[in-house]
Amino acid sequence: MNPRVVVLGAGFGGLELATILSDSLRDRTDLTLIDKSETFVFGYSKLDVMFGRATPEAVRLPYRKIVKPGVRFRREVITAIDPVARRVTTEAGAYDADVLVVALGADYDLNATPGLVEGGNEFYSLAGAERLREVIPAFDRGHAIVGVASAPFKCPPAPSEAALLLHDRLVARGVRDACEISLVMPFGVPIPPSPDTSRALLAAFAERGIRYVPDRVVRALDPSRRVAVLGDGSEMPYDLFLGIPKHCVPKVVAASGMTEGGWIPVDKKTLATRFPGVYAVGDVTSVGTPKAGVFSEGAARVVAASILAELQGGERPAPYAGAGACYVEFGAGRVGRVDVDFLSGLKPTGSFTEPSAALAREKHHFGSSRRARWFGL
Ligand SMILES: Cc1cc2nc3c(=O)[nH]c(=O)nc-3n(C[C@H](O)[C@H](O)[C@H](O)COP(=O)(O)OP(=O)(O)OC[C@H]3O[C@@H](n4cnc5c(N)ncnc54)[C@H](O)[C@@H]3O)c2cc1C
Repeated sequence: MNPRVVVLGAGFGGLELATILSDSLRDRTDLTLIDKSETFVFGYSKLDVMFGRATPEAVRLPYRKIVKPGVRFRREVITAIDPVARRVTTEAGAYDADVLVVALGADYDLNATPGLVEGGNEFYSLAGAERLREVIPAFDRGHAIVGVASAPFKCPPAPSEAALLLHDRLVARGVRDACEISLVMPFGVPIPPSPDTSRALLAAFAERGIRYVPDRVVRALDPSRRVAVLGDGSEMPYDLFLGIPKHCVPKVVAASGMTEGGWIPVDKKTLATRFPGVYAVGDVTSVGTPKAGVFSEGAARVVAASILAELQGGERPAPYAGAGACYVEFGAGRVGRVDVDFLSGLKPTGSFTEPSAALAREKHHFGSSRRARWFGL
């Protein structure tokens, strides 16, 4: 009998794992993929939605399109995970697994930043990005802050991209001269592992008059005075606040007893948790890579190879390298790329490819190839 593989979360990690096992084992796969959502959305599509470059409907990829031998998609809310018994409970039933993979991503704790819900905006959820479609076109003078509430957060280039794309929108509407843009980031430079990428971003900010505020987080907003309170107690007035909320594991993961220090610890080489037969991949872990889809996908490939090796008696896969390429939107249709390697050396390293229209096409291909591979679209 084939082992029952239960994959929790159909994001970058879960979709890649299900695809590899189905492609390799065909009908011998016995995989249940569970997600509470009806659709998948690429993280970067939220930038397209907030700036009116795509509609929310256009960026939603429906899970009902997944047709893969041996894979059952279940749209259910997971309510409990027992990693010792490898038993998962959902609002609709229960699943016992021989191999359990937790790929439930990171959630947002909006209330951890007082004033954010009442007086600010966030663009990290699709709903938040959708609301901004109305808000950004109405902003025509004053101070816009793109601000990070806490680290770690998904896709470290995204706040920089939001600031640069906001600049473009304001220029296009002829109101840029009446507006200021500041970017509050918890790092000294925008992309610490890649000095070249950081230099290019800081130069782009300087050219466009965007103020980079390093080594600070936004601790709270005071909507009555319209000020953002930073981690060091200093205050910045704002008229438009575009926030990156505090990240956390989904509640069901926190309640499972699998986390330490807020995230699921895993063996960096194999992605195994301390529970036999239970792996965790992607944003839900503290593996040591940034929280980005490419890394979730890379981790899923290593877990898939381990499961296949066990089943087919092949060689164990090479250790997870924590390497991946992230695209960085510089505005004006140009995209740069940072190739980063987090785990194979003594310290993280990154190399930068200058922004170009060719890389914008490459980023488009990154999305369309996954749409085709995961959804057949
Ligand atoms: C603005 C922005 C831009 C980004 N740009 C990029 C980029 O250019 N490149 C890149 O690589 N990454 C980018 N990212 C990051 C990327 O989206 C995430 O890092 C990636 O999706 C993480 O993959 P994952 O598989 O770990 O988790 P996710 O993709 O978050 O998947 C987790 C899944 O678990 C499901 N889930 C959670 N709780 C439950 C529950 N209780 N029951 C059932 N299902 C549940 C969720 O519905 C979700 O589908 C960006 C993110 C943002 C916000």
